[in-house]
Amino acid sequence: DIKIVNEDYFGSYSSFGIHREMLSDKVRMDAYGKAILKNPSLLKSAVVMDVGCGTGILSFFAARAGASRVISVEASEKMAAVATQLAKDNGLLRSKGPTDGTSPCTEVVEIVQSMVEELDKRIDIQPHSVDVLISEWMGYCLLYESMLGSVLFARDQWLKPGGAILPDTATIFVAGFGKGGTSLPFWENVYGFNMSSVGKELVEDAARIPIVDVVDDHDLVTSAAVLQTFDLVTMTPDEMDFTATVELEPKFCSVAGNSNDLVSKTTQCYGVVLWFDTGFTTRFCKEMPANLSTSPATPKTHWSQTILTFREPIVIASEKFSRDRSTAIGTDAYPATRIHLRISIVRASQHRSIDISLETAGVGPD
Ligand code: SAH
Repeated sequence: DIKIVNEDYFGSYSSFGIHREMLSDKVRMDAYGKAILKNPSLLKSAVVMDVGCGTGILSFFAARAGASRVISVEASEKMAAVATQLAKDNGLLRSKGPTDGTSPCTEVVEIVQSMVEELDKRIDIQPHSVDVLISEWMGYCLLYESMLGSVLFARDQWLKPGGAILPDTATIFVAGFGKGGTSLPFWENVYGFNMSSVGKELVEDAARIPIVDVVDDHDLVTSAAVLQTFDLVTMTPDEMDFTATVELEPKFCSVAGNSNDLVSKTTQCYGVVLWFDTGFTTRFCKEMPANLSTSPATPKTHWSQTILTFREPIVIASEKFSRDRSTAIGTDAYPATRIHLRISIVRASQHRSIDISLETAGVGPD
């Protein structure tokens, strides 16, 4: 549980390193690029608000897509100044009065240095006058940093009834990983030396605190399940805190040529990995919907995945294996066929981190 206060938070966005990382994240850029640039009926002549514009990149996309006015809000003083300079350098900074929307004009971007929550004191804008709200607000495990609350605030204050939000959906997924997803295999054999005690210590540490790292799709040993979905159009800020339960079933890789292996195996699940997608759905992106996925199965992003390690691995088996075993050795001794999970994610009070709690149980067969 790491404490991040506002000052540190906006301070962290003042360094160019993080912006370079975001601008270099191709999966991220492609999804936003597609949504903003390939949906002309949504963006053309629209009044757009970019919540947390950073370098201004999403605002510049909106200007390129033909928006009539782009209000780019950025709390960090340093980044607001940078975005202003960049808008000017690219001929996008609004210098004249508002355009009438009929003649093509790219000088439509206004950078406002402000928390979006305090915007009304800084700029001449009517409530509920924005056509399209854009923001890249997602943190690790979707909700770390809790910037979503600011986007919902902007929605309620500035968006027109029926106005668009990009992205408009967000989904958190969960799946179990096997030994390959831990540091155990690495430490078992280091140039022929057994260093597995280090691996064990690392796995014990990992059981105390979530880790942000990349997990390979091949190391997943269960099905993936949806933990929670958010509809950004309708959700309330309270919904950012939630508890969800899901069940994960083992996923056995077929051993080449031996289909029996599919039903005769058990697998050890060492923990679960969380990731998210955000959708730019056809609700608003009618011409070209997009999906930004941070899944282990898709090209990696700067969000990686979030890894929650169990205190003890849970053994799960296929239904058939488990039933055969129960007939052979007595009904109470059969291995579980599913992992029951209860995960809650809540915003930590007073700062921007989140508290994640995880309860597990092996269950089944029915
Ligand atoms: N839109 C940019 C930057 C995304 S990072 C891009 O896609 O590259 C998020 C940015 O939002 C940071 O620069 C941060 O300083 C800013 N921010 C976060 N919360 C904010 C708030 N409540 N009001 C205004 N800006 C905010």
